[in-house]
Amino acid sequence: MYRKDSMKAEEFIHHEEILETLSYAEQNKNNKELIQKILRKAAPQKTETGIECSGLSHREASVLLACEDPDITEEIFHLAKEIKEAFYGDRIVMFAPLYLSNYCVNQCVYCPYHLKNKEIPRKKLTQEEIRQEVIALQDMGHKRLAIECGEDPVNNPIDYILECIHTIYSIKHKNGAIRRVNVNIAATTVENYQKLKEAEIGTYILFQETYHKESYERLHPAGPKHDYAYHTEAMDRAMEGGIDDVGLGVLFGLELYKYEFAGLLMHAEHLEAVHGVGPHTISIPRVKKASDIDPSVFDNGIDDDTFAKIIACIRIAVPYTGMIISTRESEACRNKVLGLGISQISGASRTSVGGYAGYSETERPHDTEQFDVSDQRTLDEVVHWLMESGYIPSFCTACYREGRTGDRFMSLCKVGQIQNCCHPNALITLQEYLTDYASPQTQKLGEELILKELQNIPSPGRRQKTLQYLEQIKHEGQRDFRF
Ligand code: SAM
Repeated sequence: MYRKDSMKAEEFIHHEEILETLSYAEQNKNNKELIQKILRKAAPQKTETGIECSGLSHREASVLLACEDPDITEEIFHLAKEIKEAFYGDRIVMFAPLYLSNYCVNQCVYCPYHLKNKEIPRKKLTQEEIRQEVIALQDMGHKRLAIECGEDPVNNPIDYILECIHTIYSIKHKNGAIRRVNVNIAATTVENYQKLKEAEIGTYILFQETYHKESYERLHPAGPKHDYAYHTEAMDRAMEGGIDDVGLGVLFGLELYKYEFAGLLMHAEHLEAVHGVGPHTISIPRVKKASDIDPSVFDNGIDDDTFAKIIACIRIAVPYTGMIISTRESEACRNKVLGLGISQISGASRTSVGGYAGYSETERPHDTEQFDVSDQRTLDEVVHWLMESGYIPSFCTACYREGRTGDRFMSLCKVGQIQNCCHPNALITLQEYLTDYASPQTQKLGEELILKELQNIPSPGRRQKTLQYLEQIKHEGQRDFRF
C-alpha cells in the first residue's frame, strides 16, 4: 500500500502509485481546466508576512509534465521563473566538487568507478594531496565544496572521510577558506551520519540514480549499493543521525523520466511527512560519457527541451528546494535552464581524483575522471558569464553557519526575509571574490553590479550595514561578514 509516511522504501516509493500517477497524467494531459487549476494552486501568494507557495503533489506535477501543449508549456516556464524570482532572486550559488578517491566495490553499470573497470587508474588522495587540492580551489575563489567518493569500506572508510573533512576545513590559505563541505558518499549507517554531522558537514547528498526498483537492481548488479531499500531509506537514516539538509537526485537517462519525476517528488513528500522538512536540494544529472561507459546504451536519454521542462516542473512542485546543475551540462544548456529554477551551479570542476593542484585552470587530467565535463570554463569566466546574463554569483554559506538549516531555512523563505538576508550575503561574498580572485574585467562588471543591487535591499539599516561591510572588505582587508 502507498503510504508517504511509511519508513519502508517500497511503500513511500510505491510502484503501483507511480504507474497510476503516470496513467492519471496521461489521461489529463489535455484537460485544460484541471491544468489551469493546478497552475493557479502553485502560483505565489502574498501573505501578511511575505510570500508563500503551496507546491504541488506528485500527481498534480506529473500532469504538468505530461502536457504537451506549447502554450501551456510556456505558462509552466513562466510560473517556474516567477517562483524562482520570488525565493531565489537572481542569485546563483557557486560550488566545486572535490573527488577524494575512486576506489569502489560497487558495479554501477553507468559509472566508470565500477569494480570491474580495469582501464581506470585507482587513486585515493592523501591528506597532503587534499591540502594541495584545497589550496588550488581556494586560489580560484571557491568557498563551498561537494566531496565525492567511491564506496569502499577498506580504502575509503568513514574515518578517512572524516579526516578529509577536518583537513579541508582547517586550511586557511591567504584570504581563502572552505566554509561549507557538502558530502556525496554512499548510503551508510545512522552512526556514520551522526559522525558526519559532528564533522559539521553542510548537505548530505545521495542520488537515487533510479526510483524504479527492478531497474535499480539491474543497474547495480552487485556490491552494497545493490540493496534498493537500504539506498532509498538512506535519507531517513541521515535525518535520524541529525543531518537537517539532505540533497536528492536522479541520474536521468537510466529510466523513463516521467517515472523518475514522480518518484523524486514522492521522496520529497515522504521526507516532509516524516521529518517535517523536505529536501534541501535536488540534483538533476544526466548520464555522460566516461571510461568504459557509453551513454548511448542507456535508451532513456532526454533532450534539452525535456530537461528544461523537468526543471521547471520541479521548481513549481517544490518551491523551497534548491536545484543544482553541474558542469555535466554545457554552457548553452545551462543558459537555457538557469532562469527556470536552478539555484546552485558548479564552476571550473574537475571530476578526477587530484584534478586541481598542479594544473593550470585550462588544463585538465582525464585518467581518473568520473565523467566528461561539458562546461570547461574557468571560475572567472563562469562568474563573468553569470553577471553578464543578469545573475548574481554568490559564494554565500551563511545559512548553515548561522544554524538556518532544515525547516529554519524554509521559514526564512516564507517570511520574505530572503531579500534582506540572502541578497546582501550574496553581494558581500561576491565582493570578496572580486577583491581576491577576479580578473580586471570581471572585477569591473562585478563592482557595477553590486552598486546597482545594493538598491534592492529593502531594509535601509541592512543596506547601510552591507555598504559598510563592502568597504571593510575592499579597504581594510576584512573577510567573512554575514547576516
Ligand atoms: N559513491 C557514492 C554513491 O554511490 O552515491 C558517490 C557517488 S558518485 C562519486 C556521484 C554521482 O555521479 C553518482 O551518484 C551518479 O549519479 C553520478 N554518475 C556516475 N556515473 C556517471 C556518468 N557516467 N555520467 C554522469 N553522472 C554519473
